[in-house]
Amino acid sequence: MRVSEMIARGRLVLEDRVAPGRVVAEAGRIARVELDDAESSGPWIMPGFVDVHVHGWGGHDAMGPNGSLDGMARALLPRGVTSFVPTAVTAPIDTLLEFGDRVRRWIQVAPEDGSQPLGFNLEGPFISPQRVGAQNPAFVRAPADVPFREIEPLLATPNMFRLTTIAPETPGALDLIGALAERGTWTSLGHSVATADEAMAGYDAGARATTHLFNAMSGVHQHAPGLAAVALARDDVYTEVVFDGHHVDRLLWALILRAKPAARLVLVSDAISLAGTGDGRGTLGGLDVEVRGDECRLVSNGALAGSVIALDSAVRNLARFGAPLPRVSAAASANPLALLGVSDRGRIEAGLRADLVELDEGFEVRRVMQAGIWHEGPAPA
Ligand SMILES: [Zn+2]
Repeated sequence: MRVSEMIARGRLVLEDRVAPGRVVAEAGRIARVELDDAESSGPWIMPGFVDVHVHGWGGHDAMGPNGSLDGMARALLPRGVTSFVPTAVTAPIDTLLEFGDRVRRWIQVAPEDGSQPLGFNLEGPFISPQRVGAQNPAFVRAPADVPFREIEPLLATPNMFRLTTIAPETPGALDLIGALAERGTWTSLGHSVATADEAMAGYDAGARATTHLFNAMSGVHQHAPGLAAVALARDDVYTEVVFDGHHVDRLLWALILRAKPAARLVLVSDAISLAGTGDGRGTLGGLDVEVRGDECRLVSNGALAGSVIALDSAVRNLARFGAPLPRVSAAASANPLALLGVSDRGRIEAGLRADLVELDEGFEVRRVMQAGIWHEGPAPA
């Protein structure tokens, strides 16, 4: 063995099956995948997780200063999240421009011992005033009221402004979805009261994904199907789900797994900065929230206010629910990357970045390999 080689061994979760073997990494990449029955009782080895919708972690807010982004990246890595997209909540346009600029500059100096940033995501401000969820309604805007040139600086650097949530029924939304798609920024429909026709029009205009399915959106009614119904019915659209057991009842998990093609389900945490800090009170976008266990709610009205999980919890929940492991793994890694258009990682395959997660029998993270370097998993609770 050469000194520069790093090896992960166990039950490899591949695209179409689970097979015992070894992954050999060299110079940050997967050099070889060697299948071998002798490894059949080892840990699970999955590709590193990718969270495209995460507002903060470990007490660090994505919208905070550089040190806060450093802290967030370092807090996410031990949970198996090897890549992430820092996500802003609805805020004044100027604040969002500053956020985009800050992330763009920070990416050049992001810590090597943290989850790797892949750009940024804006959850708003072009959402429905009727479905703000835990967002601050004071900062919600209609696309028709904001000239495109005002948000154009967000698009100055390619592959930076990755995703944004838009309610397709709001004035000017379809034009904005189309204009963003032309520049490589994908819209995720959400925080919306869209009818089925309005949701269809949003996807047809270029929207590619759905923001936390069932939460803060028109649902599945037998005579008046809304955005959630269209997101489930259309095979071409990616659909985020927060699998923390609170955002969507487990009874619906089976329906989601049956309805969505394996390549279109995307696990997200939607985590807020309080995630990973234990029970207590804090704020989200200026609103008071309270964390208890793995739930976070607005103090004012008890509404869910983002989650306090990381993707490892979502993977564990779904695996224990009985979803096939290749499918769970794709939803945590390959699918979010395909949504973004990133193709250099996310599968156990020679030539790709050596981003791997080693999990024990109960799907708890033991170690995380990022670009060929092992890092410790989370400290035991
Ligand atoms: Zn969110």
